Amino acid sequence: MKNIWLLLFFFYFYFCPSIIQAEIVNTKEVYTYESLTEDLRELSRLHPDLITYKSLVKTPYGKKIWAIKVGHGKPTVLLHGAHHAREWMTSTLLMKMIETYASSYKDKRTVEGYHPNILDEVSIWFVPMVNPDGVTLQQMGLFAFPSYLHPSLVEMNKGSLNFVRWKANLDGIDLNRQYPANWENLRGVSSKPSYQFYKGTRPLEAIEVKALVEFTSEIEPEIAVSYHSSGNMLFWGFYQWGLTHTTKFAIDYYKIAEKLADITKYKLEEPESHQQGGGYTDWFIEEFEKPALTVEIGSLIENSSLPLDSFSSIWESNKAIGLFLAKRALEKRINNHNHIM
Ligand SMILES: [Zn+2]
Repeated sequence: MKNIWLLLFFFYFYFCPSIIQAEIVNTKEVYTYESLTEDLRELSRLHPDLITYKSLVKTPYGKKIWAIKVGHGKPTVLLHGAHHAREWMTSTLLMKMIETYASSYKDKRTVEGYHPNILDEVSIWFVPMVNPDGVTLQQMGLFAFPSYLHPSLVEMNKGSLNFVRWKANLDGIDLNRQYPANWENLRGVSSKPSYQFYKGTRPLEAIEVKALVEFTSEIEPEIAVSYHSSGNMLFWGFYQWGLTHTTKFAIDYYKIAEKLADITKYKLEEPESHQQGGGYTDWFIEEFEKPALTVEIGSLIENSSLPLDSFSSIWESNKAIGLFLAKRALEKRINNHNHIM
């Protein structure tokens, strides 16, 4: 009798690996740099054939900016999050994508109709937390950092000890106003280091941004998506779009933007209205003439991170995005190749 139970036990666990596989990325808690680091190690240990990772740079406060590769293909797409400290739910989202794509790949399950076997032909790179120092300050407050920093951090936070609205890195530089695309002419920015909107003294001054620029140039992704919060919006185009809407690039780009809006149900914003430059997507489009989009997840919330209970609907809207982009990247490659032939 005892042996039958043992046998049943063995069969149950042998044939139901997805049941015993507990979820790794906890989407119900504040997602910290430490959780992220632990999770990516665990995920790569579980899926060594599919997931690899590396550090792009170490911040002055000892945190690594992780880049995680999912897939085997030569063409790449790049998704990144948390340029802005208070927008760390974008890190949770991207880590959940990694976990979901890896387990779906293993179990041969589709995600919203997108088959993860595309990862044999395309690789998705994730940089889920571009600003780990800022995120830590926003989540933990001053005492996560040495006391000699406290006076300047409080000053940059306009005298407040509450850091929930913090967007910048620890030097008070807004990382998404640091890219060399019309940077000189950026208007409406803070004139000195601040919790938000300070563009720095020169482009690429922040090591986080310099590292992401170098990494992007190294992998040359076909498409890039920059995740932010909030507003349930999707921005395409860039600051000097002007009258070039009719080029082949613009038409192909718009098709991707339209489909992304269709999947997420986010509002697609006209290119000319949103930005003057200085952001990642501005730089990417200008540098590579390839599509890049900014996605603002979650219902609009002023001066704060998104509430934890908003994650489930954000997940529903975004879970297929990585695989969708991978598919588009592959199609783009094939089309370009045929065109050259
Ligand atoms: Zn942002």
